Amino acid sequence: MNFLHRVGNSLARFMYGRNGVDQLNMALLVGYLLLCVVRAVLSALVHSGLVRTICDVLLLALAILIFWRMLSRDVYRRQCENRKWVEFWGGLKSRRSAARARHADKEHKYFKCRNCKAICRVPVGKGKIVITCPKCGQEIHGRS
Ligand SMILES: [Zn+2]
Repeated sequence: MNFLHRVGNSLARFMYGRNGVDQLNMALLVGYLLLCVVRAVLSALVHSGLVRTICDVLLLALAILIFWRMLSRDVYRRQCENRKWVEFWGGLKSRRSAARARHADKEHKYFKCRNCKAICRVPVGKGKIVITCPKCGQEIHGRS
């Protein structure tokens, strides 16, 4: 067994029972990299040591958080945190893609209910209309 295999095996033994890298850690890593870019831009524009110090403290805190989550043995709690993050991010992505699909649909006009935030679809070219929200019954006045 060569040196690299031994290092790989000892790393695998060390990581056994630990959380490792999950989606939340990857998102934190992306945030870390973005903060690095922000720090570089700010330090080029603003010649204040305070801004750099604040960015450095935030970067250090983020790095500690990333490593702490990765090496944590409380896998259940880390998985719960990760599940919440995945649900939040998935909801955000599906809302964004639904809005893009509504924007691309030129045959319908979409109205948002002010009461329950439900989205109602009506065909374009019907003139002034009154829509009754299918969810809560609120009337929506609009022009399609
Ligand atoms: Zn409604």
